[in-house]
Amino acid sequence: MLPEAGSLWLLRLLRDIQLAQFYRPILEELNVTRPEHFDFVRPEDLDSIGMGRPAQRRLAEALKRHCSRHKPKNWVYKILGGFAPEQKETTPPSDSLPSLREPEGGLKCLIPDGAVCRGELLGSGCFGVVHRGVWTLPSGQSVPVAVKSLRVAPEGPVGTELGDFLREVSIMMNLEHPHLLRLHGLVLGQPLQMVMELAPLGSLHARLTAPAPTPPLPVALLCLFLKQLAGAMAYLGARGLVHRDLATRNLLLVSPRMIKVADFGLVRPLGGARGRYVMGGPRPIPYAWCAPESLRQGTFSSASDVWMFGVTLWEMFSRGEEPWAGVPPYLILQRLEKDQARLPRPPLCSRALYTLALRCWAPHPADRPSFSYLEGLLQEAWPPEGRCVREVTEPGALKMEPGDLITIIESSASSHPSSTTWKGQNGRTFKVGTFPASAVTLEDLRASPTTRPTHRGSPAQGEQRRGSIDGDRAKAKLRELPPARGQRRNAVPLQRIKGISKSLESILSLGPHPTGGGSSPPELRHARAVRQGPPGQRPCPPFASSSSQPSQSPREWPPGPKREPQQNHPMGTPGASKATIPSGGLLSDSEFQRRVMEVELRVHGVTHQECQVALRATGGDVVSAIRNLKVDQLFYLSSRSRTDCRRILEHYQWDLSAASRYVLARP
Ligand code: AMP
Repeated sequence: MLPEAGSLWLLRLLRDIQLAQFYRPILEELNVTRPEHFDFVRPEDLDSIGMGRPAQRRLAEALKRHCSRHKPKNWVYKILGGFAPEQKETTPPSDSLPSLREPEGGLKCLIPDGAVCRGELLGSGCFGVVHRGVWTLPSGQSVPVAVKSLRVAPEGPVGTELGDFLREVSIMMNLEHPHLLRLHGLVLGQPLQMVMELAPLGSLHARLTAPAPTPPLPVALLCLFLKQLAGAMAYLGARGLVHRDLATRNLLLVSPRMIKVADFGLVRPLGGARGRYVMGGPRPIPYAWCAPESLRQGTFSSASDVWMFGVTLWEMFSRGEEPWAGVPPYLILQRLEKDQARLPRPPLCSRALYTLALRCWAPHPADRPSFSYLEGLLQEAWPPEGRCVREVTEPGALKMEPGDLITIIESSASSHPSSTTWKGQNGRTFKVGTFPASAVTLEDLRASPTTRPTHRGSPAQGEQRRGSIDGDRAKAKLRELPPARGQRRNAVPLQRIKGISKSLESILSLGPHPTGGGSSPPELRHARAVRQGPPGQRPCPPFASSSSQPSQSPREWPPGPKREPQQNHPMGTPGASKATIPSGGLLSDSEFQRRVMEVELRVHGVTHQECQVALRATGGDVVSAIRNLKVDQLFYLSSRSRTDCRRILEHYQWDLSAASRYVLARP
């Protein structure tokens, strides 16, 4: 038997305990080439290669000795070993293998490379691509699966992506809930692959935004999805985990009436008595879905997940619209805190459900309902259903025929019942509109166990104090924001980000005021940038500071200019660019053309016309025009926001090629 160089340790270890006959099966069937790989091997896996339990115990002891002799250097071990505190706290049962973790669910195991066959591409996320696949079990049975493969750069896996990937595996290994996507196992191949339950109907977001003739999702079904989501999130919270990326794009449809929460790449354990997770550095987070304390201080908790639940509800009832579309990421926090603005009530959303969303968006985390309490609130806000008792054909009214099931979105009592109109959705046509209340008799479908939650959890801390006043108070206090100008269906300013989960914005882009200078890369300068607010403003704490307190004043910076201002950037000579353009300005045509040429010469790859436009926009200011064009160049080259691009360019003293190299090395 000729051992492969990298696995000599395994042969030695097995020989020492007289189990050398298992060398090939362990190597070839279980794909174990490093000691850390045993973290993923379950006793059942060893059973499957014919190793008896006493031999497994010998192996476990030998591995323990081996690992204590060799300090772990492997990245898998480093990352998983440095994480999963809940796993560390778990005491293994006395008869199980000390170093072979046994996840609670079934079928979570190491899967041999050859057992999984990848097919069509389903999507791509933060750190890899997802393919439809088929997993052939040792019994020969074929299981349809989704396979997420870690994207690997030529020089090997990128640290944070690898970390997130392995964290996701580590977290999913220990989750078991009907509305959380299930992990089947891991392929320790090149690339690393996660084998997951397949959601054949794709993401809820894709379903919400599917064009006709796909019918829209009925309001009652959206409520059912909310109930499923609240249940799954209550489970996650009870296990001390925070999801941090709750959005319809991360809810997958496993059947027409069942969603599952997916994408656990940003899940983190909640630490300390306060049950919070504080970000350890600038990382991408989904801005428009985030609670103010997450945007301001990088703190996440079950309460910030509840905020995201509210945004997810809003997405569902807005048919997949992007929240805060058209609002630059750095202004979202200001809108939320200073203007106390909230996303507007979507037409499909009843007042009761919107009130529930507003409670999720309470400024103070302690005032938001817990997920288990939300399950009860959902029950109260559940839209009633009724049956049509007469044909409605009046112009402007929701058309219906006797027997149609109508979901009542808005109903109101009136002293003249015959003239009362209700708003609802026809379950047959999916159309929404108003209709005479007399055309429908209410059915008591509320008791249906399949659609209505039954138990009510405990309220959040603040709710115990204030009871239900909060929602009303919040409603009265918070101004409904009209849809942002230019807001459109599927408006996707944030979707530009390639290779990153849709709508994830770098936390970098929050601060509108770059500092420039310094020798560290822009990410590392973030904390410094945040502290340097405009004169007279209180400094804002850095995101990563574990000592940041909620009592800090919110950021109140004015929005940073997206473009260079129109003055005060003379090229070397003071006053050289005082003139204003366009036509009729102070510059002569020849001077304007000279400046256009100058800009053209100094920005690689721009057209004459682009230079003219840029110069006009800056009132003839050459430096500003050059800078704006460079920001544009970098913006189109990379997946970053313009604010990021400006900051990076400032860091590199406006050297476009150096800045380009920087962004290309960090896609
Ligand atoms: P993720 O990397 O988890 O963000 O996944 C990227 C995309 O792949 C998602 O938006 C889904 O469209 C698709 N996807 C991920 N997991 C699955 C799955 N288990 N079944 C079907 N599609 C999936």
